[in-house]
Amino acid sequence: MIAPEELTHILYRLGEEKQPGGVVSPPVYLSSNFSFTTVADFRAAMANEFDLPIYSRGANPTVRLLEQKVAALQGTESALFFSSGSAAIAAAVMAHVKAGDHVILVRYAYSWTWKLLAETLSRFGVSHTEVDGEDATAVMAALQTQTVMLIVESPTSLNFLLQDLRTLIGWAKDNGLTVVCDNSFGSPLNRKPVEFGADLICHSATKYIGGHSDVVAGVVCGSRERMRKIFYGEYMTFGAALQAEQAWLLLRSLRTLPQRMEASARGAREVVQFLKNHPAIASVNWIFDPEHPQRELVADQFDYPIPMFSFRTHTADPDAIMRCCESLSLIRMAVSWGGFESLLLPAIVFARSPHPVNHFRLYVGLEDGASLVADLKHALSALK
Ligand SMILES: *Cc1c(COP(=O)(O)O)cnc(C)c1O
Repeated sequence: MIAPEELTHILYRLGEEKQPGGVVSPPVYLSSNFSFTTVADFRAAMANEFDLPIYSRGANPTVRLLEQKVAALQGTESALFFSSGSAAIAAAVMAHVKAGDHVILVRYAYSWTWKLLAETLSRFGVSHTEVDGEDATAVMAALQTQTVMLIVESPTSLNFLLQDLRTLIGWAKDNGLTVVCDNSFGSPLNRKPVEFGADLICHSATKYIGGHSDVVAGVVCGSRERMRKIFYGEYMTFGAALQAEQAWLLLRSLRTLPQRMEASARGAREVVQFLKNHPAIASVNWIFDPEHPQRELVADQFDYPIPMFSFRTHTADPDAIMRCCESLSLIRMAVSWGGFESLLLPAIVFARSPHPVNHFRLYVGLEDGASLVADLKHALSALK
């Protein structure tokens, strides 16, 4: 748990103790490059592009301020921001594998993470095994002599299956593996991956960090040594840098992260309660439900509840499900999550999906619970 005083320091002071001209809102450094008045300074910067601004595909001061804060939230030495979460994950993985290596990936991980392994890295001689992450024995059984990495995502974000991160990360470290943890679902307020020993903690900053559905961004957090390795490799060569304006928007969003998470969790509690008692609903899977079968893992991994869950309707009639979805007026149908707006992702929209047509994911935004319940009540009446 991040202590309230520490949270306050990170969100409202860290890196901002001395701002030019006493500004309260940090400046946006809209400069593609940075000039020098002495050859010695220029030389020093060229020799340490990781720390010193030379060119904004590398270090930009606005982006660096954001990185400093997110690294502090995640409890790591360092962080690197990218222009998307997928760019961040790809860089983190690719910086740590080579041809002939093998990676263990949990099933139902984010689809583009799976594609990175199944369709991109497979062309470069990196193999992988997909395993049921909730079964620790199955994960351990996937170990081969060439295995170098374990990629976890707990819980998976459509069907909410948790992995025993404490056990699995401990095991992976004992076996010399690099552990990549996609912690987008947990938000940077949940610091556990680093406490369990994860090496590289990735977030889609598009989600909770952004919080307003207007920025696409991603971040990798880890040791300074690993961030330097990624910086001089995939970060600079792929050039998926975050722009300073986007970093500024994320800095602004970060200020209200705890309040947003708290308000959304309050709404989620109300909506879950309503759905659990609704006759058209067969099941609700919110991992923060006190009766959840994986509640011990939940308590071990999360300090703060997350306002997203899945549910299933009794009916699997596609027409009724479509009518229901299209009857919503406040809750929107869309991918993604973490913004101010509640979002429904029905499995029926996927051309191919491991989830049945009566499976839905609901992210609860900042709207009041009563309005959301009224919207759902109206939509569910269309199932009859
Ligand atoms: C959205 C998401 C990503 C990808 O992030 P982008 O910012 O969309 O590139 C990765 N992992 C998870 C769990 C996500 O939800």
